[in-house]
Amino acid sequence: MQTGTQFIRSLMVVIGLAGLAAAQPPAADLVVIHAKVWTGDANQPAAQAVAVLGDRIFAVGSNAEIESLRGARTRAIDAGGKVLLPGFNDAHVHFVSGGLQLDSVQLNDVTSPEEFVRRIAEQAKKTPKEEWIQGGDWDETKWPGAILPTRQLIDAVTPDNPVFVSRYDGHSSLANSIALKLAGVTAQTPDPPGGVIVRDAQGNPTGDFKDAATDLVEKVIPPLSHDQRMRAVKRALQHAASVGVTSVQHMDPDYPDIAAYDELLQSGELTTRIYAAPLITGVDDQAKIGVRHAFGGPYLRIGALKAFADGSLGSGTAYFFAPFSDEPGNHGLLSDEMQPLSLMRDRMMKADAAGLQICTHAIGDQAISMILDLYNDVAKAHGAADRRFRIEHAQHMAAKDFARFADLGVIASMQPYHAIDDGRWAEGRIGHDRASRTYAFRTFLDHGVHLAFGTDWDVAPLNPMLGVYAAVTRETLDGRNPNGWFPEQKLTVEEAVRAYTMGSAYAEFQEKEKGSISPGKLADMVLLSDDIFAIDPRNIRDVKVLKTIVGGKVVWDSSRKPPYSTGN
Ligand SMILES: [Zn+2]
Repeated sequence: MQTGTQFIRSLMVVIGLAGLAAAQPPAADLVVIHAKVWTGDANQPAAQAVAVLGDRIFAVGSNAEIESLRGARTRAIDAGGKVLLPGFNDAHVHFVSGGLQLDSVQLNDVTSPEEFVRRIAEQAKKTPKEEWIQGGDWDETKWPGAILPTRQLIDAVTPDNPVFVSRYDGHSSLANSIALKLAGVTAQTPDPPGGVIVRDAQGNPTGDFKDAATDLVEKVIPPLSHDQRMRAVKRALQHAASVGVTSVQHMDPDYPDIAAYDELLQSGELTTRIYAAPLITGVDDQAKIGVRHAFGGPYLRIGALKAFADGSLGSGTAYFFAPFSDEPGNHGLLSDEMQPLSLMRDRMMKADAAGLQICTHAIGDQAISMILDLYNDVAKAHGAADRRFRIEHAQHMAAKDFARFADLGVIASMQPYHAIDDGRWAEGRIGHDRASRTYAFRTFLDHGVHLAFGTDWDVAPLNPMLGVYAAVTRETLDGRNPNGWFPEQKLTVEEAVRAYTMGSAYAEFQEKEKGSISPGKLADMVLLSDDIFAIDPRNIRDVKVLKTIVGGKVVWDSSRKPPYSTGN
């Protein structure tokens, strides 16, 4: 706890910032009292209460100190001794896809064809006419007989909507007859290379499409309408608020996504702060306007670019020095952006010369190594600067590259939930040695590398409690590693929270604006149902968010139903 003098001094700093007379501090707009505040600020790690003036934190201190700032119009939240944290900042999301997923039909837990039909019928009822019904993640092996669903099963309940729902593995999808007709697929349509149109005994398509054949239908699905996009963003904003995420960094958004955010910003509905990083293939667009990193305001910023070096571990396309252990001929695949390598180098040089931040997806050890080489080339060519290169995922590291990561000041933007998901099968694909440097949180920190945490939502759930749980326990989802998968890479709760708040703020050049509960910073805070620093780490995944505050406004309150309830 800070002393009274320190408290007054921090007040003076803020008052000085606000350009107000120092004699009489103004009354706060909002106070949160009786909290167990984990500030994330080394100058004052713990406190009991926080005062907010406008959209900024005004003072942090004891209950008595903050009470003294309470005026007639001050709103007060009694935290009842609960833990108050800086708002979570998810460093890697696909926000619009996430919003779309929340409203799409869920079929993964369906265990009978009857239930499959019922869920699709329900979805059709709430979907505007002619709009496509997508999503799904069905798994027919959970049904009696494991029989593939057919279009005939769902045609009667979807008279006005085309349907194309995917199997959970993404390798098959089911179309209804309307979708088939729109795609122009008939008994005469040949199977495309690498794909299968499943047919009945008469040779007619059953509605099931496998692998490359799914393109036949996908290519006729129209791009999102403005209306659909706005709905998806609003849904995503609600969900983010309900899980305590106050900032997100949207990787490879479409330009209309950014326009949608701007529209919501204008109407005052943007309740999550967004940093958007469109694809590096469009580097000229931002470069020619003269946008530099972190251009924009506290709610919406651009100035970063997302690049792709390779694929993923699950699909066997992460790019490694050595072949996959279970597939001797394959050591992965570089993305088309890397072929030839000079293409990527040129784009990075251009981006860096324009002052744009570069965030590169790299998963396999060789892909990561090649990106570090490119970053090194860029830094050498353009000289010292605060550029904060990022590697997204940084999943499988070569031992020699941790030190290089640190030397180049590259940020490891990682998603701990992937570790407990991929950890179920990763060792079988790449062997023990490489698996030991997979999601190597601890080794990164030991080398002094900046960690930024996130989820990759909609690939993984957005809930930060699952991410903190994953980083702290490394307990794989199949329950087979109760003491942690490569437990030496576990983090403490504090380290995980720091990577998810200050770490991600640093990764978007915003460490002076957010990432801790400090006087002068934006008032983004989260009140939790349980003390994550004290409970059994295995229970962190069940912790709920009681209140989410963004810019001094309560955007989520678990004790109130609508308009806050997201149904999740
Ligand atoms: Zn991603």
